[in-house]
Parts: sequence; structure tokens; C-alpha cells
Amino acid sequence: MRSVNASIITIGDELLIGQTIDTNSAFIAQELNKIGVWVKRRVAVGDVPDDIWQALDEESKDSDVIIITGGLGPTADDITKPLLCKYFDGKLVVNEDVLNHVKYLFEQVYRRPGLMLERNLKQAEVPDVCTVLHNARGTAPGMLFHKKGKAFISLPGVPHEMKGLITDQVVPRLLKEFDMPVILHRTAFTSGLGESMIAEHIKEFETALPAYIKLAYLPGYGMVKLRLTATGDNKELLEKELNDRFEQLKVLVQDVLVTDTDEGLEVVVGKILKDKGKTMGTAESCTGGYIAHLITSVAGSSAYYNGSVVSYANKVKEDILDVEHNTLLSAGAVSEETVIQMVKGAIEKLHVDYAVATSGIMGPDGGSPEKPVGTVWIAAGNKVKITAKQFHFRFDRERNIRQTAHTALDVLRKFILTNS
Ligand code: AMP
Ligand code: MG
Repeated sequence: MRSVNASIITIGDELLIGQTIDTNSAFIAQELNKIGVWVKRRVAVGDVPDDIWQALDEESKDSDVIIITGGLGPTADDITKPLLCKYFDGKLVVNEDVLNHVKYLFEQVYRRPGLMLERNLKQAEVPDVCTVLHNARGTAPGMLFHKKGKAFISLPGVPHEMKGLITDQVVPRLLKEFDMPVILHRTAFTSGLGESMIAEHIKEFETALPAYIKLAYLPGYGMVKLRLTATGDNKELLEKELNDRFEQLKVLVQDVLVTDTDEGLEVVVGKILKDKGKTMGTAESCTGGYIAHLITSVAGSSAYYNGSVVSYANKVKEDILDVEHNTLLSAGAVSEETVIQMVKGAIEKLHVDYAVATSGIMGPDGGSPEKPVGTVWIAAGNKVKITAKQFHFRFDRERNIRQTAHTALDVLRKFILTNS
């Protein structure tokens, strides 16, 4: 079978000390996967010449394509360009196209005429042994080198510049240069059953899979994604086989299946509401607006999402959502009665068809023997019916907030599907 392997080398001390999270590798890996390139390794190194050099040597042993990001800035800590120049035995020369582009960006786009420094102009210097990859979004160009049949591609670290280069320059060139195999994925998204239970349930399906189709379990917040990956040469045959197996899998997990696409619950809920032409709102205590954030991160959510009341304090639950003072006194903020009244208040005040409410103890403090950290009440409803459920999460505050938000979206999803 054909195969094209890649390594991704991300450069920067900030990645090693955890100051910046390496999102570049994830994006690059996804884009390479789509065109059939298998990412064999991802390596992060500091702004240290010997370490970068060694990583280039090591990764080019096993990979056909080596993609490097970072270290192309105009400051002294960015050392990738001179190092690559040395590694590929070239010398730095001014590239007229890049120079014009840098001037254009400063004068026309950044509108900083006269503020261009010598170090900015140096961005136009590239090794004479590379092919320049035009960076429409910034001053540092991408660079393509070849050595011993391997392709080395250096890209700026700034994520949106790197993304533009991957899409506009790198992917089209790789498709031209290599004969790619086919890599296909199908992902089913389940909720309500742990991965061990699912694995037990689909044991026979899993053992019957051919060697070229792999099953992966990806547990998340209250859900498990099941991904089938097929690798081969014949796209039509592979697609058919993968789809057949995927349909079998869907039937096996139908009771816990949320969606057969690789999308978050906020997208799934949005699609259901849009389909039905209904609206929703949120009343969030312990999640502090995180559900609102998830929903509004989906483009087009204004079609179905009206807003949120972040009723963190009891006073806000009372004053804005009309939760009864006596309920808060007798049952407490984290109670069935409170979340039900929060949903009722949200439906009225936000003028929506559906609402979901959360109230819980996220920790690390605030727990009691009756209501330990991780105790959460979630309610969802419409004008005629509201249902509430208690959950017991654990772990740390951040995890509890995320888990509560995702669970709330799932509670709302189930409510809408059974009550519309
Ligand atoms: P550089 O090209 O090294 O000057 O990087 C410019 C900026 O891009 C850095 O300050 C980081 O904030 C960001 N950056 C660099 N590498 C990565 C990466 N692997 N993932 C996400 N952001 C990055
Ligand atoms: Mg850097």
C-alpha cells in the first residue's frame, strides 16, 4: 500500500514551558490527514539550534514530509531561518517578491508607513536554496526545501498565518508531489455509557474488523466518540466498506447515539432547534456563562439562541429569574426546585421556547456531607413541562464546569427530542 508519512516539528521555548498551547500541530495534522498523509510523529523543541538540527535529522529518517512551525519572527530569539539556511547549505538573499509584500503590508494593510525597521526588511531574506511559499497574511514567508528525496516545509508560528499557508500553499503542493493513499474517518458520538461498557457491547463487531479499519474510543465530558479509520489505495471500495461497518456500529449503539458526525453537542442542539424553528435560552449558575459561550461559538447561533442569565448569586436568581426567596432558603440554590424555577424564569424573561438551567457545587470549597463538591442539578423544559435531574461529578473545578455544560446541552437535547 502507498504511504506518505509526515513529522511536525514545532519550535519555541513557549511551547516547552507550557505558556503557549501547541494548536498548530493539531491543525496541520487534521489537514494532512484529509489528503492521506499519515502524521507519524509530532515533536516540540525549544529555540535551541542543536535541538532543531537534531530534530530535522531524526524526523527525516522516518518521514517523507517534515513540517516545521515557529522561529521565523523578526526578533533575535527566532533562529529558524538562518539555521535552515545552514542545514540546507544555502545563503540568505533578498527575495524581491517578499520584499514588495512586506512593504505592501506595512504601507497598505498595517498603515504604518515609515515605521518599517531594518529587522522587518530582513523578513524578505530567504535561503537561495528554497522555494518561497507566499504568506498573504504576514511578513514571514513559508519555505520549501528538498534534501535526499524528503520535503521540508518551514512555516511561521503565528496560527492564522500558518493556517493560510497550509491551505493555500502546502496542501496543493503535496498533492502534486506525492501519490497519496486514502485515509477515511467516520465518527459516531455517544452519550450515557462509559467506554468500557461500549467496548463490551461491541466486542464482536470490533474483532470482526479487517486490518485496514481501526476503531478508536475517545472519551470526553460525559460522552464517548467512536472513530473508525480506514486506510488503503482504492477510495471507492474503502468508502463502501467503511460506510457498511459504520452503519453496523450505529445500529449497535443506537440507544446512546447522539450524532453520526464529528461535531460537538452545541452544534447538534443548534441543528435540532434550527430544524424545528424553535429558540432557546440558558439560566446558568455554576457554569457562569460557559454554556452560552459554547452555543455562541457556533456561527449562525443567533437564529435559535436568545441569551443567558448568568445568575451566579442568589439575588440574581431571585430578582431576574423570579426564583422564590423561600425556595432558596428551604431547598437551597443547588436543588431541584431552584433549577426548575430558573428554567421557568428563563423561558419568560428570555422569550424562548426552551431553556436549560444549571446549579451546582464546582469546588474546591463549598461542599457539605449532603451536597459534596460535584453535586449538580440540571433542568430543561418548555412552557408546558420542565424536568430536572441530579448529577454527581467530581474532580476539579474546571472539569466540573465543562462536564456540567456538556451534560446540560445533552439534557436539553433529549428534552427537545422527546417533547416537541
Ligand atoms: P514565531 O514564529 O516563533 O515568532 O511565533 C509567533 C507566535 O506564534 C508565538 O508567540 C506563539 O504565540 C505562536 N505560536 C508559535 N508556535 C505555535 C504553536 N505550535 N501553536 C500555537 N501557537 C504558536
Ligand atoms: Mg518563536
